[in-house]
Amino acid sequence: MESEQTGRLTPGTLYLVATPIGNLEDITLRALRTLRECDVVAAEDTRRTGQLLKHFDISKPLVSCFQFNEAKRTEQILERLRSGEKVAVVTDAGTPGISDPGGRVVRAVIEAGFRVESVPGPTALVAALTASGLPTEEFHFIGFLPHKSGARRRKLEEFAGSRATLVLYESPYRVAKLLQELEAVFPHCQVVMARELTKKFEEFLRGTPSELIRVCAQRAMKGEFVVMVGPPDKTPGPRTRSLIRDSSGQNH
Ligand code: SAM
Repeated sequence: MESEQTGRLTPGTLYLVATPIGNLEDITLRALRTLRECDVVAAEDTRRTGQLLKHFDISKPLVSCFQFNEAKRTEQILERLRSGEKVAVVTDAGTPGISDPGGRVVRAVIEAGFRVESVPGPTALVAALTASGLPTEEFHFIGFLPHKSGARRRKLEEFAGSRATLVLYESPYRVAKLLQELEAVFPHCQVVMARELTKKFEEFLRGTPSELIRVCAQRAMKGEFVVMVGPPDKTPGPRTRSLIRDSSGQNH
């Protein structure tokens, strides 16, 4: 194992800094050092990142870098890198560029010949997948589905019959709709819903789509979700028989 790096940041470098997805203890030592030593933090939401920095007693200039001004901000970030500044990119939660802004900046910075460094840390998809109990050897991460019903269904159908685990992000407002869609396309698959990862009310709900539809009909589904679909289960056994067990250990 390499020893911890304590050197200074490299001038003219863009640092992609992962931040917690709920539990502030999940920030890494390197993320904190990078945020302390950089010249400026480009944030998806400056107010939210400002609160994070304040929590860790870090004072740093913040510029906003969200979806609708990413093109203009990219130019400004390139200008800063040209003058030798060290720029950190932070999104609202997790790893920048995973279903949130950052991609355009990274491509432009690479094309302009500057260094991009990843400061890895939390991301909801890995936290969810690794604790799901579903196969992790091969998986497809598809982020958020499109909004329109036809396009959503077509996207899901691309993965019907796949031996890999499918991992999706979904808003609490559409999670019930998603379960109905999963019931149509993956009726015999194990689905795991990871809710509020790393937070006080974290739970994993497991079952077939129809079993989970029943659970969702009984209680309000609040918070953030990662939804995963396992490969088709052709051998009825404990996995298909055991129903939903929530964080309190109760079966439903
Ligand atoms: N960049 C982030 C990452 O690395 O995971 C994802 C950003 S995306 C805009 C937000 C989505 O990630 C949420 O709608 C939800 O699907 C998922 N997510 C983020 N935090 C989560 C959490 N604590 N528990 C469950 N899902 C979460």
